Amino acid sequence: MGRLVMKFGGTSVADIERIRNVARHVKREVAAGHEVAVVVSAMAGATNRLVEWCREASALHDAREYDTVVASGEQVTSGLLAIALQAAGVNARSWQGWQLPIKTSDAHGSARILDINGEELIKRFKERKEVAVVSGFQGIYPDTGRVTTLGRGGSDTSAVAVAAAIRAERCDIYTDVDGVYTTDPRVVPRARRLDKIAFEEMLEMASLGAKVMQVRSIELAMVHQVRVFVRSSFDKPEDIDPHTAPPGTLICDEAEIMEQQVVTGIAFSKDEAQISIRRVQDKPGVAASIFGPLAEANINVDMIVQNVSEDGRRTDLTFTVARSELSRALDAIEKAAPQIGYKEISADANVAKVSIIGIGMRAHPGVAQTMFRTLSDKGINIQVISTSEIKVSVLIAEEYVELAVRALHSAYELDTA
Ligand code: ADP
Ligand code: ASP
Ligand code: MG
Repeated sequence: MGRLVMKFGGTSVADIERIRNVARHVKREVAAGHEVAVVVSAMAGATNRLVEWCREASALHDAREYDTVVASGEQVTSGLLAIALQAAGVNARSWQGWQLPIKTSDAHGSARILDINGEELIKRFKERKEVAVVSGFQGIYPDTGRVTTLGRGGSDTSAVAVAAAIRAERCDIYTDVDGVYTTDPRVVPRARRLDKIAFEEMLEMASLGAKVMQVRSIELAMVHQVRVFVRSSFDKPEDIDPHTAPPGTLICDEAEIMEQQVVTGIAFSKDEAQISIRRVQDKPGVAASIFGPLAEANINVDMIVQNVSEDGRRTDLTFTVARSELSRALDAIEKAAPQIGYKEISADANVAKVSIIGIGMRAHPGVAQTMFRTLSDKGINIQVISTSEIKVSVLIAEEYVELAVRALHSAYELDTA
């Protein structure tokens, strides 16, 4: 039998009863002969509370101390799960990021994993049959020895990185849904579970707003060829038949997927804001004069449109940034106003991005047209469009997001029968 990583998200470890349920899932895999490393998130709501405490203590706080505070949520659950496993007769110990260690960059609050040495865990599987319970979300920056965290949702990334480090045959992501759906099942009850989804598609889904997996975890899975299986932690461990495949979604190489839909999924994000700069000079270098100051301020610009100039001298430029960065972005542009030279600037935070995703789009022209027609039939105005090989995104008024997602879900025949 092989080696497994089992990752449990916040709702799956929300209280002691659920942690006991997790312990039974782990025991089931150990009994089946697997060597298991478990990765846990903080209890549901715990990280939000810790983040809020940091803000309350001081709006402008030291990012290293923020990490010290927010990493504590995972320390609690890893210890509790090790206790629950021991109580269930399973040999287990907890590991904090700094103990393993999980070495990361120094980007506190959104650090990247650089290296994990899995050999000690493998040795303990062999010599002691010991289950490793690893705190997700956290690591250490070796040069300073300080605790780091990987950004919200980062336990998914910890799990995939641990799976690569111990050469696990699969990384099971246990969560509060039983797989990856064609769109968020909380918004569209008729969303369908996908049996398989390609890494590239999951990467787009995640970066365009689907919360189910952290973006970075999919990048890592792709690079290290880790097979990721998303499944429900709410199934009773006792009800799972070890001889039949459980319900869930395998995130894998495109080559493994036989039946390809044109559109695989729909994602949406409300973390968007739009900035329009009117009557800017239409001359070489003007885009650089706007986006340069934004890049310097570390603000990511997403969708961009520049209108055709009517008189050849002035034009309008519209782009989007994360909603949380809107005021910083406006600040940066207003400071650079003399160099840019524009008449008027306006901002709108009540916008959202809706995207259709599918590798089948590469071979099928006209996919975007169905999207535009569907939205126009519903009277929804498209403010900005951006496309890539396997996705089309549109920016619309936030109030129409749910309507748009449901209409597109039907238009691309993704609804369950
Ligand atoms: P965890 O705490 O286990 O990490 P998350 O809350 O981070 O869980 O992610 C699971 C949630 O992702 C689901 O409850 C669901 O609402 C949301 N979600 C968004 N898009 C999708 C999708 N396409 N498929 C499945 N879940 C999705
Ligand atoms: N607890 C962290 C968060 O809420 C990490 C995670 O759950 O993946 O963002
Ligand atoms: Mg998550």
